Amino acid sequence: MEQIQNTQNNSQLSPNQPVFSLDGKLALITGGGSGIGFDIARCMVQAGATIVITGRREQPLIDATKALGERAHYMVNDVTARDLLDNLVERIEATHGPIDILVNNAGVNMKKSALEVTDEDFDRIVYTNLNSVFSLTRACAQRMMARASGSIIMISSMAAYYGLDRVVAYAASKSAVEGMVKVLASEFSGNGVRVNAIAPGFIETAMSKTAMGGDPDRFARAMRRTPMGKFGQPEDIGWAAVFLASSAAKYITGVSLPVDGGNSIGF
Ligand code: NDP
Repeated sequence: MEQIQNTQNNSQLSPNQPVFSLDGKLALITGGGSGIGFDIARCMVQAGATIVITGRREQPLIDATKALGERAHYMVNDVTARDLLDNLVERIEATHGPIDILVNNAGVNMKKSALEVTDEDFDRIVYTNLNSVFSLTRACAQRMMARASGSIIMISSMAAYYGLDRVVAYAASKSAVEGMVKVLASEFSGNGVRVNAIAPGFIETAMSKTAMGGDPDRFARAMRRTPMGKFGQPEDIGWAAVFLASSAAKYITGVSLPVDGGNSIGF
């Protein structure tokens, strides 16, 4: 008991410490030029972090960094070019310093009945949402583990929680990411690197507009099982990411946090 109390005291934050602050932290956010990724970047900048956002198209990254101010930087990068990810991390650290926070946000979706999904379709979605996430996470985690400090956040989905029709590859990729979170958290957390996921519900972005567009029945079904009765905003995910990356969450690892207006528990 005495030992337990000592351990707790050792890791207690001081009363004046701004526990939700990301002051002095560097965050890498993939797909940060638009949608949810942009708002994760915006919230992290507001919480004091310096951020580097990535994406395949340069113009949205230029616009985003302009909007976010001087603590925002970008690198054009396609996460599916897996052999370039070690180099990406190396370049970011050489220019901006150690990466404290990695947010694996970049992702792609495709709505098709399972019987119509080709092998190429399936591979493309899984390659972006899972294989690339693993490679970038490994590249960052090797450095975080050497420094015994870091926070890794995956962006999962309700598609990993229940049977959402017509997104078989997407659901497979996000379910695998949820599994990866548990394994990585067990391997890394003893050394100060926490790994968590956020599972967004239905959030207003280009991706959800495409998934819902022209499908009023799907929209109605989504809302019926969402107790809050509305879509979320990208910043709802942004603030959850700030929390998970901050000292306020220093004893949280290996979880998947639904940010979904109750969608995952709605009937
Ligand atoms: P968007 O389609 O609006 O944005 C996706 C972002 O990822 C874009 O900035 C895009 O930039 C980038 N991106 C896509 N492919 C790559 C790639 N190969 N390499 C680098 N960047 C890439 O999606 P959302 O903002 O809606 O989604 C963000 C995350 O949230 C995804 O992981 C998604 O699965 C998840 N999510 C979203 C939900 C929602 O309701 N919107 C619900 C649940 C989960 P560019 O095209 O320039 O590369």
